[in-house]
Amino acid sequence: MPAVKTPTARVGHGVMLTHPDRVYWPDAGITKARLADYYKAAWPRMAPFIIDRPLALLRCPEGIEGPRFFQKNAWKGMNAHIVALDDPQGAPRGHLIGIHDLDGLMGLVQGAALEIHPWQASCHDWERPDQLVMDLDPGEGVGWADVIAAARAVRARLEASGLAAFVKTSGGKGLHVIAPLEPVADWAGAKSFAHALAQDMAADSPDRFVTTVSRARRHGRILLDYLRNQRGATSVAPYSARARPGAPISMPVSWAELDALTGPAQFTVGNAMERLASQRADPWADFHAARRPIGTRAP
Ligand code: ATP
Ligand code: MN
Ligand code: MN
Repeated sequence: MPAVKTPTARVGHGVMLTHPDRVYWPDAGITKARLADYYKAAWPRMAPFIIDRPLALLRCPEGIEGPRFFQKNAWKGMNAHIVALDDPQGAPRGHLIGIHDLDGLMGLVQGAALEIHPWQASCHDWERPDQLVMDLDPGEGVGWADVIAAARAVRARLEASGLAAFVKTSGGKGLHVIAPLEPVADWAGAKSFAHALAQDMAADSPDRFVTTVSRARRHGRILLDYLRNQRGATSVAPYSARARPGAPISMPVSWAELDALTGPAQFTVGNAMERLASQRADPWADFHAARRPIGTRAP
């Protein structure tokens, strides 16, 4: 039988991408197929941060210039490789969204999920987070060097508390510092730890840091957004693309290379594959071995 030309492309093992040439980021010329190729390259490093955990998706069916919606529930007609997760404490409002494998990630691309935002817990232990995120949100007038210094300050506090710290660009305006956790503390414990850490930093340097959104409007300070660490809250996944101009990525970096970064959106779908291919080592290689429980020492 002659091959039939269809506007689809097979990716992963079994997912068909419809409209692979659809342009998702017009300014950067990034298509759906290009996004899929990038995620295939990032998969070995990205997988542990997105498989088997509830995911919220920023879906943009017509690309970043079209309508967008933040989706937390499984939907009718979603790709067969996306799985529905049952929150054991969930209200009967439907299933949450999960993936188990690369086909699942390709299913998310097929569903025009331009950003992937996981919970800080896996669905193997819904009540005990396995990572803690401090989201650094610079206010107006804050320089990039100050954001870097803030990330280092968070790292020092985490390490003083017996936790490891890893850093990634947000792909937006700031940096995210992530501590890998042994899932021992519950949500209340994780949130109160993160809150105390942020409050201590703001108390010590009130000219640099704030911990509430209203005060963050104050010019020249960084909001230490600790509220990613509560049940059901999400933050963008390591290696996720962002639905913003330039097709930026939330990119894990090493502490050593941080000072040389030009900004929070330096890494993009357009340049990330070269970075992955040329990188001698995964800057987050030690993440999973570095898990420790919260609370061995006060923050
Ligand atoms: P930036 O560097 O610009 O602050 P970010 O990833 O830290 O980037 P946002 O993209 O503004 O910040 O997202 C803030 C948080 O809110 C994220 O943790 C995300 O998971 C969540 N979020 C984003 N959009 C929505 C939405 N529409 N509804 C609910 N939560 C959202
Ligand atoms: Mn942020
Ligand atoms: Mn924030």
